[in-house]
Amino acid sequence: MLDKFKDECGVFGIYGHAESSNLTYLGLYALQHRGQESGGIVASDGVTLRASRGMGYVADIFDEHTLAGLTGAAAIGHVRYSTAGESRLANAQPILIECVHGQIAVCHNGNLVNERELRESLSSQGAIFQTSSDTEVFLHLYARSKARRVEDALVEAVSQAQGAFSLLFLTKGCLVAVRDPHGFRPMALGRLGDAWVVCSETCAMDLIGASYVREVEPGEVLIIGPDGPKSLRPFPPAAVSHCIFEHVYFARPDSLVFGESVNLVRTNLGRVLAREAPVPADVVVPVPDSGVCAAIGYAEESGIPIQFGLIRNHYVGRTFIEPQQSIRHFGVKVKLNPVRSILEGRRVVLIDDSIVRGTTSRKLVKMLKAAGATEVHMRVSCPPTVSPCFYGIDTPRRADLIAATHTLDEVRKYIEADSLRYLSLDGLLESVNSHRDHYCTSCYTGRYPVPFPRDEAAYLQLPLALDTRGAVER
Ligand code: SF4
Repeated sequence: MLDKFKDECGVFGIYGHAESSNLTYLGLYALQHRGQESGGIVASDGVTLRASRGMGYVADIFDEHTLAGLTGAAAIGHVRYSTAGESRLANAQPILIECVHGQIAVCHNGNLVNERELRESLSSQGAIFQTSSDTEVFLHLYARSKARRVEDALVEAVSQAQGAFSLLFLTKGCLVAVRDPHGFRPMALGRLGDAWVVCSETCAMDLIGASYVREVEPGEVLIIGPDGPKSLRPFPPAAVSHCIFEHVYFARPDSLVFGESVNLVRTNLGRVLAREAPVPADVVVPVPDSGVCAAIGYAEESGIPIQFGLIRNHYVGRTFIEPQQSIRHFGVKVKLNPVRSILEGRRVVLIDDSIVRGTTSRKLVKMLKAAGATEVHMRVSCPPTVSPCFYGIDTPRRADLIAATHTLDEVRKYIEADSLRYLSLDGLLESVNSHRDHYCTSCYTGRYPVPFPRDEAAYLQLPLALDTRGAVER
């Protein structure tokens, strides 16, 4: 595996369309990059909710027969990479239950920081959990609510959660979108004819021909029923903390996230990087695919031509097995191959979106030099990644983040590059066109906007100290 932060999850929902499950299938297809371990759809025909879930890629889970059984004009779907809970079918989403308020399904992008307290409290009151996923907590809180109206019970449930949550709920009568007050994970609202669409990234709307309306706002509970959307704001005001890594790496460049074009932001990262870290060179080479937009920006700004000196094999699946442990670097070689005619005798600027452990960068630099590059100058389109994420991204422990434990020159020596520069934090925030103070940058700064418990997982990740303002600092 390339050593990257791992994508979290993707959610898609539609209300008011006769082809709801087929469109949800297509939406999940477009969001597949956000999770490849499992997927699922729950559809409502106004009387009954029906679910289908499975392990693997969306294309492998659903077929025409399965989708034909998911009848109704409203549906929600999910692709999952497990950031909380194990990778197994029981943890696949959406989760569908029946309780005193009727049937309800939920799917979730994000990670609760108070999941353990909520789970322990619910368990002590007799709750029996069927999954190890933090998402199930919402359903237990909802089921226990004494509120009479569905929307009141939902608000009561989500108000007890802390952390990152972009949620979709489906009942027999409505689709409900909820975004945590910090707005960590993206969620957008769109329109397809008379139908309403809610999804993690707008690339899913593009595929089905829906048009973007607006963001589901941080702290908003958007209830979409027969009378159209109704917006509630039940959470106390909080500082907005969009995940800036969505722009750096996670989201597709053809998407809008947090209301901004990922392609434009990512290209800006490269432009600013070229201004901050110029170097005499003959060719700019992106690490595909994640380094491409930033490399285009770097090339535009520096005047050095961009060429695709590394070619990616798009057909390497998750199940690729190295035939022999003794064949070193085989994992990277099977995914990326150098183009000797571009590299031979050239001074190369190699652009990647991040360095996590450093192992892949080291292999790539060696690969380029073996293909004839005379110099390799590594440029990274974000600051050094020094702290783990607790808001829905799977990251290595701090001890495994090379920039957390090594100086810049030590990292350069390890990856065997002729020079190494990262984008500055200021440069990162300058590349985001608006509201630079509306972004979470914790993985670069170690300053966390939402405190999390000093539990075992936290201690395993990094030494923590709660500061007097309630923020957590490394
Ligand atoms: S810590 Fe990093 S990856 Fe996690 S939400 Fe903040 S910016 Fe995103």
